[in-house]
Amino acid sequence: MNPKYSFSFKNGDGKNKALLGGKGANLCEMTQMGLNVPPGFVITTATCLQYLENKQLPADLMDEVRQQIADIEQETGKQFGGNSDPLLVSVRSGSAISMPGMMDTILNLGLNKQTLAAMIEMTDDPRFVYDAYRRFIQLFGKVALGIEDEKFDFHFENVKRAAGIKADVALSADQLQEISDLFLMVVHEETGKPFPEDVYEQLEIAIKAVFNSWLGKRAVDYRREFHITPDIANGTAVNIVTMVFGNMGDDCATGVGFTRNPGTGVNEMYGEYLVNAQGEDVVAGIRTPKPVHEMAKEMPEQYRQLVELRNKLEAHYKEVQDYEYTIERGVLYCLQTRNGKMNATAMVKTSIDMVNEGLISKERALLRINPELLEQLLHPQLAADHGQQPLAQGLPASPGAACGKCVFDADTAVRLAKTGEDLILLREETKPEDIHGFFAAQGVLTSRGGKTSHAAVVARGMGKACVAGAEDIKVDVRARLAIVGDIHIKEGDLITIDGGTGDIYLGRIPTIKPSFSPELKTLLSWADENARLRVHANADTPAMARLAAEYGAKGIGLCRTERMFNAVDRLPLVIDMILAHNTEEREAALAKLFPIQRDDFEQLFEAMSPYPVTVRLLDPPMHEFLPNEHQLLDEINALKHYLTIVKGQRVTLETLAGHPELPTPFNQLNEEVILEAIAKKEMMLDKVLELFEVNPMLGHRGVRLGMSYPEIYKMQIRSILEAAARCVKQRIPVEPEIMVPQVITAQELKKVKQFVDEIQAEVEAQYKISLKFKFGTMIETVRACTRADHLAKIADFFSFGTNDLTQATFSFSREDAENKFLPLYEDSGLLQDNPFETLDIQGLGKLMKMAVEWGRQTRPDLKVGICGEHGGHPRSIKFCHDLGLNYVSCSAPRIPVARLAAAHAKLLEAQST
Ligand code: PEP
Ligand code: MG
Repeated sequence: MNPKYSFSFKNGDGKNKALLGGKGANLCEMTQMGLNVPPGFVITTATCLQYLENKQLPADLMDEVRQQIADIEQETGKQFGGNSDPLLVSVRSGSAISMPGMMDTILNLGLNKQTLAAMIEMTDDPRFVYDAYRRFIQLFGKVALGIEDEKFDFHFENVKRAAGIKADVALSADQLQEISDLFLMVVHEETGKPFPEDVYEQLEIAIKAVFNSWLGKRAVDYRREFHITPDIANGTAVNIVTMVFGNMGDDCATGVGFTRNPGTGVNEMYGEYLVNAQGEDVVAGIRTPKPVHEMAKEMPEQYRQLVELRNKLEAHYKEVQDYEYTIERGVLYCLQTRNGKMNATAMVKTSIDMVNEGLISKERALLRINPELLEQLLHPQLAADHGQQPLAQGLPASPGAACGKCVFDADTAVRLAKTGEDLILLREETKPEDIHGFFAAQGVLTSRGGKTSHAAVVARGMGKACVAGAEDIKVDVRARLAIVGDIHIKEGDLITIDGGTGDIYLGRIPTIKPSFSPELKTLLSWADENARLRVHANADTPAMARLAAEYGAKGIGLCRTERMFNAVDRLPLVIDMILAHNTEEREAALAKLFPIQRDDFEQLFEAMSPYPVTVRLLDPPMHEFLPNEHQLLDEINALKHYLTIVKGQRVTLETLAGHPELPTPFNQLNEEVILEAIAKKEMMLDKVLELFEVNPMLGHRGVRLGMSYPEIYKMQIRSILEAAARCVKQRIPVEPEIMVPQVITAQELKKVKQFVDEIQAEVEAQYKISLKFKFGTMIETVRACTRADHLAKIADFFSFGTNDLTQATFSFSREDAENKFLPLYEDSGLLQDNPFETLDIQGLGKLMKMAVEWGRQTRPDLKVGICGEHGGHPRSIKFCHDLGLNYVSCSAPRIPVARLAAAHAKLLEAQST
């Protein structure tokens, strides 16, 4: 009979992970490589899908299973359910992608009254056999029959307590037998049926349980969280493997290993083992395992076998492997292998080393690293091998590790931060009014909310570590207490969070400052050699530009000039400009801003020389530079209150103490000063009311400001061109680019281009040089996409502003969406991704495609880039590559990610053609 549903490890296709699951495929591959794998077979994922659809196993599946078991019996000389040398098996799930959300392993399946007796007779070790039995009943009960662990643990602990025993290893055979009987009783009580004695019935129930686990809540949630779609993994396989025992005596052991050190990437034996133990003892932490190096002394022959196994695995898979093994009576068996999950440092080091060792190509070295991982390297990280167990886990919401005193509200955070304390803001969830707490704290931890919760979004924007949705933590702000199980965390207690993994630890774990290692530099230089897209940075200050250049940016793709306006020394000038009653007054204020902007640009060009710097003309609505209405009203009221104090008595610093809102300097305070301040605030208030818009993001902003107040744009254009001229005079090569935001029509662009032409002529005459620069537009309105052919007549370049373009395409704002309905949309599958994080290729992508095609029809050499947040996101970068963009621009910490993602895009394109 030719198997239809399953493959023996001896003939399954080790490359077909989709059909055999990762674990099954590797077991086949290892068997066929000649490694010592216990005999077994794998039931395919296709069978799983068939079962889930028909809600029953294929009628002839169990016949095939019997045939597979018969083959194993023949190979091992054991008998399933037999009464002399019984065959026991493990049953494990395994889909194409390793998914911790799925079913656990069932061990020792095949034990019943008869095989139990046979095992005792054969091993002459009743303690060992009853230990295996009670483990099997509990695992089978839990995993296959859905009985809670507590039901078993209750009896287990009772027996231990009654016997005055602390450690499990001290339990005698009789006590383990008693426990087994109690466990059988639990199963009977909970299911209404006796524990299945028929070993094939056990196997059938276990197979169904594994299949059903594919649709279990944990697995479904896991797939949604990590975007595991059916084309990536569909259904789970079932692996049925001959049991080998690491707990039959001192010539037995069980262990786990990595072919290289996963913390540092160093090429060395790495792992842990336990003598006389079963695999789950290592994982459950019941006994402390020994470092693998000790095996060299303790079991030298087995250590030699282990070194050989490790070398064969790496040479074959050409990838770092994470493997599990058992030594039964001196013989080493490999039970599992998979690609090792390592931190970013180790991934980068192993990539470089494996190329140098001739094991893999440079292309493979690039492709084996998930670009997202590199962001870890630019945030503080926990020291490798810190050896601490996490107290709880939440969602990894914003990368980086942080340690500090726990604080339960934003005001307290601000107060304590002034004393120089490092803090972690711990809230049930955060709200916009907590923002000052974010600034004050090193990291943020919430017990509710997801990766798009307020805490997550704000922390990411600030580059602060954040763990969100740690549901095991109960926060009681009134009691200034957080409770995890029976552990109480008081305000002021030290905690450490790792926003890259979601782990939360009690106490301080040292963090390591990020460094751009020589290995990372090498890897990224290989990435640049392979990429077609260039990577630019979104940077607004010379310091940010220098950092971006250090991270390998080949230009600035977006300098938001309003960020310069917001600096403390400029804001009063900007406010004067806004309050101006007429063009002359506005020009006077702008004249003061001009030299400051020019110097800013000069420094920026210098920092990025010789690469291009794209400067965007003013974009936000004017009211953003003014305080809001409520704040102004409060300030005016406070000032009026002080006026009464000042009128009534001599002002001293003491009388003013406790009034921190008072304008400074205090000591100059007199009636005249206060009156002047009130008048200014009232003017601002009038202006705020005048500027009021129902929907400011769709209102008077961007190029519309340039049309209404040309003098603002003219000042900025002059600053840019004069800064460039000064650089040219100093022989600093520069490539400035002037970019216009929010454009909807070519007429707007034409008008700004006229300003540029006029000013260019003046600056060139003044500096006696000729200037080379580009003039372009952002594409962030739907109309700009549909008029791209016309815009390209004037623009030398386009830059997609996908933050605004996403809002425009979806007709909802990021803030409202993420705080209100987007989590629901994502959770219920109405939208697969948050479109502000992952570029909406199906919808917005079409607009982009059209804009690129039409733009280049008009101007074939049109330079096109992207400067919205998506420019740093690997999947979006791949799309930008496929669309033929010239560059992506992203924030500094995303630059290494983008460089690697750009190389991936090119390499994957080459692979698919
Ligand atoms: C954009 O809209 O994508 C963009 C880069 O501009 P901003 O985020 O400043 O609106
Ligand atoms: Mg924008």
